Amino acid sequence: EPANLYATFVARCANPDKIFIETQDGRRIRYRDAFDLAGRIANVLKTKGVNPLDRVAVQVEKSAEALILYLACLRIGAIYLPLNTAYTLNELEYFIGDAEPRVVVCAPAAHDAIQSLMTRLPGSSVVTLGTKSDGSLMQLSQAASAHIENVPSSPDDVAAILYTSGTTGRSKGAMLTHHNLRSNAVTLAEAWRFTEGDVLLHALPLFHTHGLFVATNVVLMSGARMILMPKFDPAVIREKLPGATVMMGVPTFYTRLLQEDWLDAAAVSHMRLFVSGSAPLLAETHREWSKRTDHAILERYGMTETNMITSNPYSGTRIPGTVGTPLPGIDVVITDPQTGALLAPGEVGMIEVRGPNVFQGYWRMPEKTKAELRSNGFFITGDLGKLAGDGVLSIVGRGKDLVITGGYNVYPKEVETQIDEIEGVVESAVIGVPHPDFGEGVTAIIVKDVAHDLDEQAIVKALDGRLAKFKLPKRVIFVEDLPRNTMGKVLKEVLRRQYGSIYT
Ligand code: ATP
Ligand code: MG
Repeated sequence: EPANLYATFVARCANPDKIFIETQDGRRIRYRDAFDLAGRIANVLKTKGVNPLDRVAVQVEKSAEALILYLACLRIGAIYLPLNTAYTLNELEYFIGDAEPRVVVCAPAAHDAIQSLMTRLPGSSVVTLGTKSDGSLMQLSQAASAHIENVPSSPDDVAAILYTSGTTGRSKGAMLTHHNLRSNAVTLAEAWRFTEGDVLLHALPLFHTHGLFVATNVVLMSGARMILMPKFDPAVIREKLPGATVMMGVPTFYTRLLQEDWLDAAAVSHMRLFVSGSAPLLAETHREWSKRTDHAILERYGMTETNMITSNPYSGTRIPGTVGTPLPGIDVVITDPQTGALLAPGEVGMIEVRGPNVFQGYWRMPEKTKAELRSNGFFITGDLGKLAGDGVLSIVGRGKDLVITGGYNVYPKEVETQIDEIEGVVESAVIGVPHPDFGEGVTAIIVKDVAHDLDEQAIVKALDGRLAKFKLPKRVIFVEDLPRNTMGKVLKEVLRRQYGSIYT
């Protein structure tokens, strides 16, 4: 394989006349045309002074051109650095200051504001990209040549810096190499049996590992097609389903689709695969989906720093509530969070990962990198889990979310699972809140069905006998919605802050 990931994509493309991207409004872009535009954009970036390993920071709405911009960066060995479209100017100031990009690509309307953030970076420039093939980047690329020499990156050159979702604190920039990305894409395309005949429903954002690397790279590795939607919309999914074979989504895609009357086995009969990840898929959602559609959702586990780590099997039983076995070439161990000692099968501990998929460290955070990336190559994920004897991994939750009450460990997921089974509960989040007697008090935040008049007492009564006394919530709080980030992850940090003083 070539060292440069872009070169790998080109080498793997058996038929450049095939459609690569179909947009929601029906525009079709062939592989040949995408490669051609990637060359033009790459030439524009070069005239803006972008050299290999320079950062190109990108905050734009999702579009086919935005995806091709990623290819252009790979092609010239620049470091692609996408930013969440929800970030405000204030937040961007931090990211731009941290990344020191040579070029920022932003929405046309944001140009002036972003330009003013760049004054401290001499030699840098701002170009724009809109969602209608507009903006200065597109204008300049029309006049540019499509021909460009590929940069023969070393496999260990950083290809992208991707910021983590910021679920547990400030987002960190994970440095991923051409080899990290390629190895995972090759592995996933094989594990999930992607072929040229596949058509992927792509409704995920392009600034996150799920939509950018998992979904996009797997399509590029196999010469498949994607239907690119600006955002997830059940009505559009319904319209596009008949032409598709695979969907990748976060769990909220599945819970929202389950609310649609039209969803049944006939509506998805030609689909061969539904993949879920980025946040825990409730076992109940998995079962409900199977009942309605005759498809077992394939849940996998990964993170920005490691790409994908484990997957349920393509053929074989997909077990609800588990994330499957380590992907080929990837080692997963469970260790004691305090001592780092290996734990036996079935014991809950820290999930650690080693393999060609694991990142090179956090951008400009040497201390954090050293604390989480062991010298033996294992990365300490921060997630707690257990491995069954047959190697199947179950995630118990994040280490930071573990509640320690009166000296006992309480895993929020165990309590949430019981709460969610109570009639009238829609969903729940269990957190630890500082408590004068217990250190932390188990606290349940619950969204209930409006039709049920559940109260605090009813919840505790329903749990009594199902959970040990020390696991029972000391307080139950009802809310309209749980706070979530753009990836659908529950922001427990926000809840802990909000209810931080209820016991004191
Ligand atoms: P930050 O690191 O900034 O706090 P984050 O960890 O949410 O944010 P990501 O890299 O997007 O950022 O998410 C990775 C995390 O998502 C994993 O560490 C894990 O906690 C969770 N996750 C991913 N897939 C699954 C899954 N199938 N089941 C449960 N959790 C999952
Ligand atoms: Mg994380």
